[in-house]
Amino acid sequence: MMVSKEGGFTVGLKEIGWNGFLIRVPEEMHFTRQGGNAKEGTFVIESEEGIIDLSWRPIQEEPQSLLSAVETIIDYAKKEAKKKGLKFSIKEKQRVLVNKHDAFYLLVKSAVEERYYIWLCKESGRIASVRFIFKEFDEKAKRIIKQFLSSLRCHTDGNNVWSLLKIRFEAPKSLLLTESRFGVGRAHITLAEKEVSALEERTRSIHVDYFSVANLIFKDTYQDPGRWFEKNYKKEFRKMLKKWRIKFDTIGERELGGHKAVIKEARTTSGLLTRGSEICSVACWYCEDMNRMYSVAVRSRIVRFVFLKRRLKEEEHNEMFDSLLRSFKCH
Ligand SMILES: [Zn+2]
Ligand SMILES: [Zn+2]
Repeated sequence: MMVSKEGGFTVGLKEIGWNGFLIRVPEEMHFTRQGGNAKEGTFVIESEEGIIDLSWRPIQEEPQSLLSAVETIIDYAKKEAKKKGLKFSIKEKQRVLVNKHDAFYLLVKSAVEERYYIWLCKESGRIASVRFIFKEFDEKAKRIIKQFLSSLRCHTDGNNVWSLLKIRFEAPKSLLLTESRFGVGRAHITLAEKEVSALEERTRSIHVDYFSVANLIFKDTYQDPGRWFEKNYKKEFRKMLKKWRIKFDTIGERELGGHKAVIKEARTTSGLLTRGSEICSVACWYCEDMNRMYSVAVRSRIVRFVFLKRRLKEEEHNEMFDSLLRSFKCH
């Protein structure tokens, strides 16, 4: 249940933060499909009554791009209708505002009514479109659209908010989604950024994992996150990092959402012709509220030629890990 700090949002709504979009939808609507990253991608939210799909891509040629985006969507919908032997007509087309951006609203009638909002967000460099399809376009459907559009945030000055399945955290915009898996009882998200120059290669990544029904699945270890890491998670984590022998030390504890998290850290240096160095910091904890084990990690790597001094920005790494944990909500 969304109890908003900002105020003004109806109880019964939940927040979804994904790839630089932040919206609110009814509790009974679920995030079912997604692809891509913050530059180009899509996600779908569904319930028994309807489907909302949001997609976005980079802005290319500017002045015409909103109109041409509208044309592209119309052409596509027309083709789809033709393929299925359905009628197709545009019932309404008008200029509107979406999150204060110039936008178009389209009402398309084919097998069903489809409502599109297409807008251009210069701040995030994206053209986005959202399509609403409801079994019945009743008062409830109208309210869902209204709530969606009034809660929508498509750009931010600060970090991106990632919010889904009762987890919420903030991460720098420069880190893009590279992997996400949602299975029964577990979820995994990786965000990463790579900067390559002639002299060096820097990568930073964030890895978030949780495992549900933890008190049953990890009966012996869930109350001791340090042991859980060693016994139940380390192998998989090493595999994820493609570092089979990386060694983690426990360097402390910290309070997180009312839970006690264990902090682990690994440091490595390697290579002959090139020199790589790396820090990986991990926080693990058990959340009683959700009965989940969490692992949240930040990894920073740098590879440089041997004749140059390696400079892994350790402070930057620690600051990123710290602000990620400060922003993290696990229940
Ligand atoms: Zn925007
Ligand atoms: Zn918690």
